[in-house]
Amino acid sequence: MTQQGDTTNIETLVDQLTLAEQVSLLSGEDFWSLPAIDRLGLGKLRVTDGPNGARGGGSLFGGVTAAAFPVGISIGASWNPDLAYEIGSAIADEVKSKGAHVSLAPTVNIHRSVTNGRNFECYSEDPELTAALTVGYIKGLQDKNISATLKHFAGNESEIERTTMSSDVDERSLREVYLRPFEDAVKKAGTWGIMSSYNRLNGTFTSEHPWLLTDVLRDEWGYDGIVMSDWFGSHTTAETVNAGLDLEMPGPTRDRGDKLIEAVENGDVSRDMIRTRALNILRLMQRTGALYDTRPFEEHADDRPEHRALIRRAGAEGTVLLKNDGLLPLDANGTVAVIGPNAKTAQIMGGGSAQLNPHYSVSPYQGIVSKLDEASVSYATGCTNHRWEPMLSGEFDIAFFDNTTLSGTPVHTCTQQDAMGFFVPPIAEGKVRPDHFSARMTKTITPEVSGTYQLGAHGAAYLRVFVDGKLIVDLSEQNWTKGRTFFEEGCDHLTGEVTLTAGQDHKIEIELQTKNAAHLQFTAFYVGLGLPMTDDDIAQAARVAAQADTAIVFVGRSGEWDTEGSDLLDITLPGRQNELVQAVAAQNQRTIVVLQTGGPVEMPWLSDVAGVLQAWYPGQEAGNAIADVLFGDVEPTGRLPQTFPLRWADNPTHSQDPVVYPGHDGHVRYDEGVFIGYRHYDRHQVTPMFPFGFGLGYTSFDLSDITATVHDTGVSVSVALTNTGDRDGTGVVQLYVGDDEASVDRPARELRGFAKCHVPAGETKTVQIALSPRDFAFFDVDHGLWRIEAGTFTLSAGLSAADIRCDTRVALDAAEISPSA
Ligand code: BGC
Repeated sequence: MTQQGDTTNIETLVDQLTLAEQVSLLSGEDFWSLPAIDRLGLGKLRVTDGPNGARGGGSLFGGVTAAAFPVGISIGASWNPDLAYEIGSAIADEVKSKGAHVSLAPTVNIHRSVTNGRNFECYSEDPELTAALTVGYIKGLQDKNISATLKHFAGNESEIERTTMSSDVDERSLREVYLRPFEDAVKKAGTWGIMSSYNRLNGTFTSEHPWLLTDVLRDEWGYDGIVMSDWFGSHTTAETVNAGLDLEMPGPTRDRGDKLIEAVENGDVSRDMIRTRALNILRLMQRTGALYDTRPFEEHADDRPEHRALIRRAGAEGTVLLKNDGLLPLDANGTVAVIGPNAKTAQIMGGGSAQLNPHYSVSPYQGIVSKLDEASVSYATGCTNHRWEPMLSGEFDIAFFDNTTLSGTPVHTCTQQDAMGFFVPPIAEGKVRPDHFSARMTKTITPEVSGTYQLGAHGAAYLRVFVDGKLIVDLSEQNWTKGRTFFEEGCDHLTGEVTLTAGQDHKIEIELQTKNAAHLQFTAFYVGLGLPMTDDDIAQAARVAAQADTAIVFVGRSGEWDTEGSDLLDITLPGRQNELVQAVAAQNQRTIVVLQTGGPVEMPWLSDVAGVLQAWYPGQEAGNAIADVLFGDVEPTGRLPQTFPLRWADNPTHSQDPVVYPGHDGHVRYDEGVFIGYRHYDRHQVTPMFPFGFGLGYTSFDLSDITATVHDTGVSVSVALTNTGDRDGTGVVQLYVGDDEASVDRPARELRGFAKCHVPAGETKTVQIALSPRDFAFFDVDHGLWRIEAGTFTLSAGLSAADIRCDTRVALDAAEISPSA
């Protein structure tokens, strides 16, 4: 039975549980749920990933379909907390359709390096913008009784050696930048869940960090929700429990259960501490209606028209127009050449635990064709942008063996879709041990084109791939080395050549053996096959472009690149995409580039093209959302949530010293302190390609008449936003605060407020932004409090961090603010 809003006294209930029952609530039973306690009629708390949808309780790939929402950086670009609320609220419905009570979302780490593999999942380089969106998203979820799980607490700004790396961050930077979204989530949104990160923070694993989990989170901020570990990110028994980690995930337990009972008996963990942790879990179960939810697990696809509409609107709202020589919006007359590797492949999300099996996806090509008649649209791929050879798709026969040598009779046979698998228990209907099995997968393919193909594979497993009995890719034990795939548990992609003949059958055989997991316990593999593209393909794309009135080139990356478990090696567009853009632009002056990436890329062709649109990964309606903006059905109101540097070397973590990034000897040191993002570019007077907060619309704006009034509870600011163009539009007013004279090194200006406002053509609206005392303070580490120093502060209103249109000053008295306030 589900009981929403039940009034059970959980203080009494927790005391009815035996020690063993209390302890049982402190670790997962399986990958996605906690155990029930039948004796008292208590149900199972169920969780699901997050954050751009609700994947459900299945494996990482395949599984029941789910609505794919825009990724974090796209929501970041919307600068719209109300939209984040709507998305959180819709995802709450999705979580319910997947039989779960808790969403493992949102991801609120800060974009420190432009190369972080998980930046796509996070909102911004700026803590203010991140915090505001975080609060909106959490309220959306929790207003429907679905718990948020804010992640990853804290210092998880890179994926390099992520399960062991120590992020060494000084306290002021932590407080002012990295902890800020978590603090607002606790104080302003009342989040019910938080996930500790994999990394260590200043030497200690965050899952056993008493200062982080207890002193700051609970004692200072007053948090009463739960902290769960990231998957396999809890490493000890007494240390994690005593530090403040309520829940070890996933199950079955590794460090709790009997070990924890023993720790209580030894006196390493107090009985009271167990009670507190169990009480926190019961509180979460009560809040989410899981306490007496004894319904059997059931999940289903729930493809709702209102979710489709929201995703389309949100995807368009996150799109940022970076350059427009007047060509956009396009009119629906004339011919369009649609070009590029991302044109017919819908890039809707990033990779890793955030991925899900979407209900459907709309490619840019489909989106454009729906605005024009198909006869006006021509197409060429031009080149590839993959990191791995295209996955071998279709049905494979698979035979599982209960040994690692493929010997004897298979214990289970079945079929599986596609040459990609992610095995977590139960595997082969539970007939093999998760860490000790082998499998043989077979399939016959009949290529349509003869040629020399690339066969590629990688795995968190030993693999051998044969074609017609010949070994082509050998990733057996002696050849296998750890790389940047499968959450850092996999090797790098290895390719081999194979000649295939059109119309002829070729037998593919994949042999898989488990290997000992380094940190995360699962087995996974991927096999792909592709025919390399050549100069001719680029030349063909240029010819197609030359014949059309307008050329739109869809380039970027994909979830193979923008993914958990792997940082980027640089920010160059992968493959030959820069050449492709240049070749097309040389043939057609009306060339528009639509980028889909999880962050900035270098754009050597910028001056040669007429327009650039950054569309990120906008979810299942990708093509429609992009076409809506291109054709002017929707005004582009997205603004960059991250600075786009001219070159990678300009970004704040680019250093001669590898300890600053990517890390050295197990440590990554945040030497730049609070000077990340635009704070860095301002300080070093480095001009970015596109500054933080930048984005064009189809009209133009100006700001004027800024005034500020100081009162007891802060400062009220008002500024006039004028639409100076001849189209209605929406402007994003950004308010930056700078301390004119400070005793500590402070950024020239920091975003402290913003407002998105629709203004009809030629009209002016007055925008009010309220600043709190904290907006003027820095964190005084010596005294453990927020400090405002007496003096003047400059308040600058801008249309980006580098486009300040007016400013004013206020004088404030000295003040101290408690970290608990
Ligand atoms: C990720 C988490 C995710 C968890 C469960 C981990 O690899 O870091 O964000 O929620 O897996 O899938």
